[in-house]
Amino acid sequence: MQAKQMFINEYDDNIIEVFMKLLDQKIHEAKDMLLERYKWICSQSPASAKFMYENGTMLGYHPEEGIESALRHGTLVIGQLGLAECLQILIGCDHTTEPGMKIAKQIEQLFKDRCSQFKQELHLNFGVYYTPAENLCHTALKKFRAKWGVIPNVSDKDFFTNSIHVPVWYKISPFEKIDIESQLTGYSNAGCITYVELDASAVHNTKALEQIVNYAMDHDIPYFAINVPSDTCLDCGFQGEINDKCPICGSNNIQ
Ligand SMILES: [Zn+2]
Repeated sequence: MQAKQMFINEYDDNIIEVFMKLLDQKIHEAKDMLLERYKWICSQSPASAKFMYENGTMLGYHPEEGIESALRHGTLVIGQLGLAECLQILIGCDHTTEPGMKIAKQIEQLFKDRCSQFKQELHLNFGVYYTPAENLCHTALKKFRAKWGVIPNVSDKDFFTNSIHVPVWYKISPFEKIDIESQLTGYSNAGCITYVELDASAVHNTKALEQIVNYAMDHDIPYFAINVPSDTCLDCGFQGEINDKCPICGSNNIQ
């Protein structure tokens, strides 16, 4: 504990500076890739997706201007995953700690500033997204591990932590999770989600559920979801809370 604390307090500022430069470069590359894709899509004939431009399905379409007249109202977003693991590499702790949150805000400010800048310069809806990347969290980890091996708190699980989330294996209360993630949701101007996971006992406690939802709404959580476990009896199909055996058929073949 002593050794870890020292590491947290004495991390090298230079590491952060180098990282921020690299990140900035990558954000610019992401912008270039988004633009390349955007231009490619805009070069297609309106006939390739006719229904999108008929009946106002996609607003703003003016035939004489081509499909870009409609597509420029779409969003070009830069998402991210693995903030927690990134911070572990940089300073040996994540944004559930004070020093980690400080760097996290610096990182997210860069994403936000750059996307605002791209929006101004290019008159397109660039934004920051926290991030529907559940599959990529696993794929990216596999690729990372093939290159860098297993690093404790970084690549020793089956997936990276999605977006700016608190790692799912942390034992913290829904309120603590909201306290941490709500400090970062404001940097995402294109969308984000906060989840909390509850154990089965909470499912029937509507007062507790309401209290959690209200807490999230009172903080800066624009999109909130509660996950609850659902047991399934593989013999009769009953779904719900199952303790030792299925309350319907008595089976213990439970998923
Ligand atoms: Zn059953």
